[in-house]
Amino acid sequence: MLLACGSATAQASRNVLVLYSNGRLVPGNVDVEAGLRASIVSTIDRPVHINSEFLDRPEFVGAAYEQVMLAYLREKYVEHPPQLVVAVGRDALDFLLRQRSQLFPGVPVVHAAVIAAMPPRLGPLPDDVVGVPIDYDIQGTVLQALRWHPTATHLLVVTGSTKRDREWESMLRERTAPLRDRVQIEFAAGVPTDQLERRLGSLDRDWLVLTGGFYQSGNSLWSTPRDAAAFIAQASAVPVYGPISTFIGTGVVGGRVPRFQNAGDQAGEIVNRLLDGEPPASLKLPAVMANTLMVDWRQANRWGIADEDIPLDAVVQFKRPSFWETYRTAGLLGGAAILLETGLIALLLFEHHRRLNAETALAQRGTELAHASRLAVAGELTASIAHEINQPLAAILSNAEAADLLLKSGRGSPEMLDAILADIRRDDIRASEVISRLRTLLAREVGKREPFELNAAIADGCELLAAEVRRRDMRLAVRPCADPVQVVGDAVQLQQVLINLVMNAMDAIGDRPENRRSIRVATVEQTEHVEIRVSDRGEGVTPENLARLFDSFFSTKSRGMGLGLSISRSIVEAHGGRIWAVSTLGVGTTFHIQLPKYVQANGSPMQHTGPEASHPGEPHAGHAAGDPARA
Ligand code: ADP
Repeated sequence: MLLACGSATAQASRNVLVLYSNGRLVPGNVDVEAGLRASIVSTIDRPVHINSEFLDRPEFVGAAYEQVMLAYLREKYVEHPPQLVVAVGRDALDFLLRQRSQLFPGVPVVHAAVIAAMPPRLGPLPDDVVGVPIDYDIQGTVLQALRWHPTATHLLVVTGSTKRDREWESMLRERTAPLRDRVQIEFAAGVPTDQLERRLGSLDRDWLVLTGGFYQSGNSLWSTPRDAAAFIAQASAVPVYGPISTFIGTGVVGGRVPRFQNAGDQAGEIVNRLLDGEPPASLKLPAVMANTLMVDWRQANRWGIADEDIPLDAVVQFKRPSFWETYRTAGLLGGAAILLETGLIALLLFEHHRRLNAETALAQRGTELAHASRLAVAGELTASIAHEINQPLAAILSNAEAADLLLKSGRGSPEMLDAILADIRRDDIRASEVISRLRTLLAREVGKREPFELNAAIADGCELLAAEVRRRDMRLAVRPCADPVQVVGDAVQLQQVLINLVMNAMDAIGDRPENRRSIRVATVEQTEHVEIRVSDRGEGVTPENLARLFDSFFSTKSRGMGLGLSISRSIVEAHGGRIWAVSTLGVGTTFHIQLPKYVQANGSPMQHTGPEASHPGEPHAGHAAGDPARA
């Protein structure tokens, strides 16, 4: 039962046996294995088991050893026969070609990292033995070295003394022969280690060294060619090159090399295709694996090879990261933070600019609105102003007619005529003053900011209203404070506020009996402020309406716009002041405008955040609107 289970599993999974020519730890094998394991696809549906075996060449050789290996592999894999064998390196491939029919008959073989061109040359292979051979680019390696060291005239090629080393030597001789025109070539083949060390150490700057490493030189043994390469590089006074990828890191500068990991990758891909059922003969494979220029950056640097002279397609290892590369992330983050910050600052500046524009536009709208409101007020005052102007004009006319009569009758004395002309002049001045006030009120000016005397400005504003007050049969009492008082701002705008308040007061007392048809405008000087109070003896404002008095478009009048008080509040606040109303139903309403006084002595206007206490003489003590401290 157990056996049945085991064999069922064996049938379901695919077994791949990888046979390496050398020992487990030979660097090239480690690389090939990494490539194989990374590329062979093993899934739940198609699990692949990989087993590795090692021929351990070159230490273990000979017919007897081969028989032992044969028996071992046959016995070991009888229960788990491989569906595919991978031969890594030439020795493993040769072993399988010889023993396959006894060992794993009919099992396809994929070869990896097999050198095609090295003697003995690889002959034609059976259809089910496939792979991409590698080749060592000896010439390419030497030519690249000569490009980097153009003054070099001699090349020392170092090889070893085992059979395998001799095979390398013959390949190197064959491959370097065409370069003899360019460089003088000398071989140090199987030279005892101490001699080799001295020779390498005494080479002058005309020399370069090339090696494929070795297993033995003279009486010294190395476990791998890589270790030999490390010895050579350490001993050499000149740059050492080698066409083997695993030499990178030993002190060798580099070379044009077949990368063992790539060989493992490529073999793994072939394994996948065969396990998927592609017939081996149908695979279209490259004739040879592409080589790569590999460079140890530290050695390149040591021998004066500039970064820009290293071809872009080279694989550069052990490159010391530049400051930028080391701190790239921090730099990028820092850069991003700076960019973000710059962006935010730009955004803030942009927003600030927009806000300023918006504020300017708002101020302009405010000015325009105030102007429109003044036009409206002027419209309301038209009748009375026309009357105001008509009066002096009529007086001028009658005076002119009187003078004419006197002159024609011959009874006019010079004194009489002088008096008449003086009257004409006075009336003319009176008319032109009215017109000038009106023009000032209607002028479209941007709000000024200059000190002016408040009582004079109030008196001027009241002059404009006088005719209307008379026309409506009312009284306007102006009670300025005892001393002149300066405020800073725009006198015309404050006159506009005053006119608004007085016109509202006139509306409020319009239906009042004779004894209540009076309005009082007073200025009250306080410590740091001056207050304008506009009082009427109208019906007063209900508490609900009082709360909405300064809202835009709040009006209880049939033809009211409801903008007068809201514009007035904007103007007063723009002057650093406050406006509020106190009203008692049945008694009347007083509007308070509190403005900071301009104090010339220390040059700075003083401002308070809240209105000061009401004037003790204030007649109203009812509800308040507009001032938060009181509302
Ligand atoms: P409008 O005069 O066009 O209505 P205002 O903003 O000048 O707009 O006034 C808003 C409202 O406040 C008036 O409709 C009125 O109800 C009330 N009001 C203003 N002044 C007084 C006052 N002195 N007495 C009573 N109510 C007033």
